[in-house]
Amino acid sequence: MSPERVAVIGVGVVGACVGWNLARRGAHVVLVDAGRPGEGVSDWSFSWVNASNKTVSRAYFDLNVAGVAAHRELAGVLGADPWWHPTGHLRWADEDAAEAKLVGTAELLERWGYRVEACTGAEVRRRFEPSVTIPDGARVLFYPDEAWVHGRRLVGRLVEEAVASGAEVRTGTAVRDIRTGADGGVRTLDLSDGSALDVDAVVNAAGPDATHVARLVGRDLPMRREPGAVTRLDCAEVPVRRAMHTPHIEIRPDGDASVVLHSREIDALIDAAEGPEDPDGLGRLLHASAQRVVPALGAARIARTRVVNRPVPADGFPSVGALPSIPGYYEAVTHSGITLGPVIGRLLASELLGGRGDALLAGFRPARFPV
Ligand SMILES: Cc1cc2nc3c(=O)[nH]c(=O)nc-3n(C[C@H](O)[C@H](O)[C@H](O)COP(=O)(O)OP(=O)(O)OC[C@H]3O[C@@H](n4cnc5c(N)ncnc54)[C@H](O)[C@@H]3O)c2cc1C
Repeated sequence: MSPERVAVIGVGVVGACVGWNLARRGAHVVLVDAGRPGEGVSDWSFSWVNASNKTVSRAYFDLNVAGVAAHRELAGVLGADPWWHPTGHLRWADEDAAEAKLVGTAELLERWGYRVEACTGAEVRRRFEPSVTIPDGARVLFYPDEAWVHGRRLVGRLVEEAVASGAEVRTGTAVRDIRTGADGGVRTLDLSDGSALDVDAVVNAAGPDATHVARLVGRDLPMRREPGAVTRLDCAEVPVRRAMHTPHIEIRPDGDASVVLHSREIDALIDAAEGPEDPDGLGRLLHASAQRVVPALGAARIARTRVVNRPVPADGFPSVGALPSIPGYYEAVTHSGITLGPVIGRLLASELLGGRGDALLAGFRPARFPV
């Protein structure tokens, strides 16, 4: 039976995708966010839409391939502007062992039917990125079907469309409690503005705060602590055209006057005693590293650096779907939520509206974590 009224708790890319799918299929949806939609992790992400970095298991890879495809379909429905940038992805290494690993992964991906082209550093400068410093003979992998997304703008478009389909939006209002009925099923949300909301179902899409929201229904959702630092640069001219994993730094455009930087090596300093503790220090390291690859970024100015926690369930995989022991409680919590948001949104909305859980999500159900 379909629920009468569904609250989606958290309006980042994941919650917005769930809410939009529900609203366009005629459900009565209320989107609730403690802050402003799209201003959580979804705005401080590298935002690379990919399956090439998801070879840890075939099931996870297949889900991410469906995620990439779902973005293309979404762009067909919503229009690409101002969020969708299907410009492919470049990746290379600067030492032998790392390069061998990248090439091995590319070979596996080809066997799995995923498109990848091998090229040289000279070709990269000629065909793709004229501003990049890279040895002529470097071995570079180009993934033509990958993309980057402007997360905040995507959320904005989805909320706009969900509202046009009848969804309600409550912003600046945190869910403080979830009351359950005699059957243990969710009934009422208590909000931080003092109001209460009667519902038949809730979707926990609270990103890094999902553990806290799960606790409101007596659920223990174990999550990792995995912080990442992201810097936005203001640029008079943006010297890069696509998302790139260069040997020590990830670089992508972020619109007409902005570039985003991230580095797993610099993330590793966040919790290290000897590392810089302030985001500004991490931002300066990211900027210095980026200039070694794209010297033109020397003229750019750091606009802001933020350290945010990735929403990663304890085993590293998404937690998506109903939890049968708590009727009306659903989870949509995942790392790689930029890539996976559109496919998770579509599949979870179908499940909520009476469908069976999709086989693509079989390995990623909430019940694998004891309640
Ligand atoms: C450094 C970094 C790099 C990344 N790179 C990539 C990448 O390249 N590709 C990729 O696919 N993914 C990437 N990710 C992961 C991706 O960004 C996230 O998985 C995704 O943005 C999560 O979206 P979300 O909607 O779950 O969370 P969020 O965007 O954080 O949204 C959650 C929302 O819930 C709200 N909320 C929380 N608690 C409550 C409450 N009690 N009541 C009401 N509202 C509440 C918050 O205000 C927030 O708006 C990266 C993440 C990081 C940190």
